[in-house]
Amino acid sequence: MTDQPTWLCGNCNIPLQTGQVDVGYMGNAFPVDLLKCPNCGLVFVPEELALGKMVEVEKQLEDK
Ligand SMILES: [Zn+2]
Repeated sequence: MTDQPTWLCGNCNIPLQTGQVDVGYMGNAFPVDLLKCPNCGLVFVPEELALGKMVEVEKQLEDK
């Protein structure tokens, strides 16, 4: 296990904070806890989420 790195906003150079963000995908919105800049609202989306959760969502939609 590694220490969780502190992510800095590229615009403001201040630490991002965890907060709930609505992620839109194929016309649906999903509340997800993501790192977000409290100043400018920039949201950091981890690659795992983009490649993992979004694929899961896509599969669920295809099943219906
Ligand atoms: Zn910022």
